[in-house]
Amino acid sequence: MPVYRDEVVVLRTQKLGEADRIVTMLTRQHGKVRAVAKGVRRTASKFGARLEPFMVADVQLYEGRSLDVITQAESIGSYGALITADYPSYTAASAMVETADKLTEAEGSLQQYLLLVGALRSLSRREHGAGLTLDSYLLRSLSMAGWAPSFQDCARCGAVGTHSAMVVQVGGIVCDNCAAPGSPRLDPATVALLGSLLTGDWEHAQSAPDQTRAQATGVVAAYTQWHLGRGLRSLEHVSR
Ligand SMILES: [Zn+2]
Repeated sequence: MPVYRDEVVVLRTQKLGEADRIVTMLTRQHGKVRAVAKGVRRTASKFGARLEPFMVADVQLYEGRSLDVITQAESIGSYGALITADYPSYTAASAMVETADKLTEAEGSLQQYLLLVGALRSLSRREHGAGLTLDSYLLRSLSMAGWAPSFQDCARCGAVGTHSAMVVQVGGIVCDNCAAPGSPRLDPATVALLGSLLTGDWEHAQSAPDQTRAQATGVVAAYTQWHLGRGLRSLEHVSR
């Protein structure tokens, strides 16, 4: 039975039988993997603790007939406890792993793996605030999946910006010619914040006042929900 190792971030777990769990992981090299962790619910095992959601681990697996089986797990980043201890961080992380899960439905990528690990690490260290970290993660992960929004030039005709009308269906900000009557308008500060979240300009993003952050969060949520179809359950719990 072929054995392989990889670095993984745990997206979610579910119970299997009396003592086992199925662990869904985004891996560095093998895309998304669902694998069985045996005996982890029987005792307070260290093995099991390393395979909780938001944990980053170096794991060894062997290929099973239907699901692979995890035989070893060494912690690389124990972000789980630090994130779970803070409710805004917990809800943000939950929305991140659910998004990663949906975006890697067909195949995972190294880029998506690194983005998620970086965002969880940042959350665990309380670097930029849970709300900004989540919004930035959502914009960047959607971009990697092929849905890069435009917050500068018109998303429909390409007219050089800045513009203020937001149309999530066409992928961002549109010019006055392309805007349908009644399109919601954003403050220039909100458009600038969205651009900073997309590029990771934290210095600018963190200087934004609460009202601007709230408007940006609304845009990011609408954009995310539009592209992920049925929507994210965990996004509804994010304290906004
Ligand atoms: Zn236009």
